[in-house]
Amino acid sequence: MITHICDRCGRPIERGQTRYTARIQVFAAADPLEITLDDLLRDTDQEMDDLIGQSEPLSEQELMRDVYVEFRFDLCRACQRTYLDDPLSVSSRNQ
Ligand SMILES: [Zn+2]
Repeated sequence: MITHICDRCGRPIERGQTRYTARIQVFAAADPLEITLDDLLRDTDQEMDDLIGQSEPLSEQELMRDVYVEFRFDLCRACQRTYLDDPLSVSSRNQ
């Protein structure tokens, strides 16, 4: 009985076969916040207006995609091995 389909190769994964789940999170990295006295004294109203203006043409989904995206894939055993050998697909870019 097929319980899942491998998201990489499309082959069925039968009940009892080893199945792997790859969860990939891509999010905006943030360095530790350092607030100086100059930052506290600066008038940020114009900066906020500029940011809001830049965000207005984008949908909520587009804005969220700039900050955080998560993927979840089911993989068969063969694809799990291939994925672990080259998770960033570096070798396919060098061909
Ligand atoms: Zn596969």
